[in-house]
Amino acid sequence: MDYFNYKNGILHVEDLSINNIARSIETPFYCYSSTSMRKNYNDLSNSLSKLNTSIFYAIKANSNLAIIKLFSDLGAGADVVSEGEIRRALKVGIPNNKIIFSGVGKTKKEISFALNKEILQINIESESELELINQTALELNKKANVAFRINPDIEVNTHEKITTGKKENKFGIPWPEAKEVFIKASKMKNINVIGLAIHIGSQLLDLSPLEKAFKIVMDATNELLELGINVKNIDLGGGLGVKYVDEKPPNFNDYADIIKKNIDYENMNIFIEPGRRLVANAGILVTKVIYVKNNGKKTFLIVDAAMNDLLRPSLYDAVHQIKPIQVRESKNKKSFDIVGPICESGDILAKNIMLDEILPEELLSIHSAGAYGSAMSSNYNSRLLVPEILVQNRDFAIIRKRPTYDEMLKIEKLAKWQV
Ligand SMILES: *Cc1c(COP(=O)(O)O)cnc(C)c1O
Repeated sequence: MDYFNYKNGILHVEDLSINNIARSIETPFYCYSSTSMRKNYNDLSNSLSKLNTSIFYAIKANSNLAIIKLFSDLGAGADVVSEGEIRRALKVGIPNNKIIFSGVGKTKKEISFALNKEILQINIESESELELINQTALELNKKANVAFRINPDIEVNTHEKITTGKKENKFGIPWPEAKEVFIKASKMKNINVIGLAIHIGSQLLDLSPLEKAFKIVMDATNELLELGINVKNIDLGGGLGVKYVDEKPPNFNDYADIIKKNIDYENMNIFIEPGRRLVANAGILVTKVIYVKNNGKKTFLIVDAAMNDLLRPSLYDAVHQIKPIQVRESKNKKSFDIVGPICESGDILAKNIMLDEILPEELLSIHSAGAYGSAMSSNYNSRLLVPEILVQNRDFAIIRKRPTYDEMLKIEKLAKWQV
């Protein structure tokens, strides 16, 4: 069950009507249900309660400070992929020893920052990164706690742009080749090898590739322990899929079962890094129809949200359900393409959506937009970033305001020879 329901024909988030919110906030805006996020987290956490598992929210999915704080208050740590994300996590009070730093391209500056903050672990993705971390730790007179992300070379059935566990992807170090790197690392003076990590892709709807990867990472762990490399953390990554239209995502108990069956949770610390699954279905993007335009062949709804606000349809061919905020019962549904104002033919939010007759000024909700929505937004076409609203029961808060045009323009200036 989610927290976006029609009451008296009007879409509500928890107990608040979207029409009410839209009276004080100009569209487009993102709107999140805090109760839905909390339920996602608690359901996952309950399923894993007997498995010695710690949850690290992958904050790139939705990196608004209020959202990070919501999960932190429930006990989550953070999985981060940049210095900016470390700063976000620390800013809302996530303890340094609950932060894991992932990513293929950490710079020396970011590594220094992480070492100085003494975060829990850095997940290394290449031998050259290992060298740079060792060197940086030496200069700072620190010992870096590291895990290695191994690439288990596993095919997953998801969009090619979110597949990460195949050898042709840039992520991780292939196993068993990586064994040599572990041995080398275990002899380095400023490196403390504490674990292994995997993350094979996102929006996974089938647990079997994940289970294969779990087996590989457990076998790898055992081999390392036999070699006398004292790893204690196994990081199983994120990737659990969600329902956008009619997908059947895996449930948390089945996920817990494949951990239980394949991972030695009694002797190891198990980490997981869910992102999408905690937030996707807890958010919508509210947009207003500007024009209805018929090209003879197609009818377009030109709305005030665009690909710079929600990139997923353009980038991943993602399909989101789109519904009117106010239902009007009619048997006369028509097919529409819903597009934004941006000067790109790829600025499409949805194709062939069946809706009742729609008029300009009408509000629509783009569903399941809580993950990789606002986090991927940009100023393209010099459009302002849109506000984010967090709802709790009957209450709502603006957790990111719409910047002013002055704020958008003030970081730019003319070259000195132009003035
Ligand atoms: C993106 C990412 C995640 C989260 O993935 P979801 O599919 O959103 O759960 C977890 N771990 C790593 C290393 C990632 O890059």
